[in-house]
Amino acid sequence: MAPQQTRQQRTSKSKVGLFKPKGGFDLEEEDEEPLREEKNLPPEPLFGRGGCCSGDSQKQIFWYRPMGSTDFGIHMNAEEFERVYRENPPDIKKDIFRHGVSHEYFHHIVDSWCVINEVNRDNLAKRYEKQMHAEERKTSEIYILEESMGEYLAHKWTRRYWEDCRRGTYSLWRPFYSSSVWFQGSLIVALQYLKGKYKISGLTPPNGFSKEILEHFEVPKKWTEKVSSCKLFPLDGNDAGFATHHESGVWNFDNIPFHIHHPDRELRKWYSSWRGEFYQLVLRKEPLIRISE
Ligand SMILES: [Zn+2]
Repeated sequence: MAPQQTRQQRTSKSKVGLFKPKGGFDLEEEDEEPLREEKNLPPEPLFGRGGCCSGDSQKQIFWYRPMGSTDFGIHMNAEEFERVYRENPPDIKKDIFRHGVSHEYFHHIVDSWCVINEVNRDNLAKRYEKQMHAEERKTSEIYILEESMGEYLAHKWTRRYWEDCRRGTYSLWRPFYSSSVWFQGSLIVALQYLKGKYKISGLTPPNGFSKEILEHFEVPKKWTEKVSSCKLFPLDGNDAGFATHHESGVWNFDNIPFHIHHPDRELRKWYSSWRGEFYQLVLRKEPLIRISE
């Protein structure tokens, strides 16, 4: 299992507390409904189990640390990556690698938006782990769309996908191929940060999100207005909302710090070069694919 402190859900939403929320957003005091208690269940890795189809005995491989952290950037446990994927041919390993870093880059896009708009990330951070756990265990419906959207970006930027292996929020990436679903999803994620919770009365569906709901979901106008005035949130175009370009975040995909955890310096350089090579592909849009509906 990954050490707690390296799990992405904890790190990416850690209590950076750099900014207070701006005035004008009525952060209500009411709590989300309490999640059902899960007793006597063994701990398990929460965050996507690194790669999929690799069982439950895997450490976290990729994670993101938000801006303001001393170790801000995308992290990769290269030792674990090597251990899990050593049997795979090089091209598949590269695609898995690209998938991982692309997914984490989406967290940076959202993180950038929060920082630029001075949105306090702490409130959602407090809820993240418990909610994610509940969604994984199916004791809660799905509300964490940030992960679905990160998966979409990873699929967009790579050539392979593992939908059948993924569970919960990770399995909901496909509808985001629609630019309108992407925009609606972006609004939801932005509002979840602004409100500091995942389940928002009058906004999120009472029974959570599904592929079918996402395809037709429309954020009511009064909610849209709370986001539309924010910076770094394009309102139209193919990538409206949290745009999916390599430079969408404050730091572009190539410049965001990339921390490779492995004792072998040569191997760290190797993975760093993989990231550089991938960035060139992204610039040339070579890895872009369209998966039919
Ligand atoms: Zn993620």
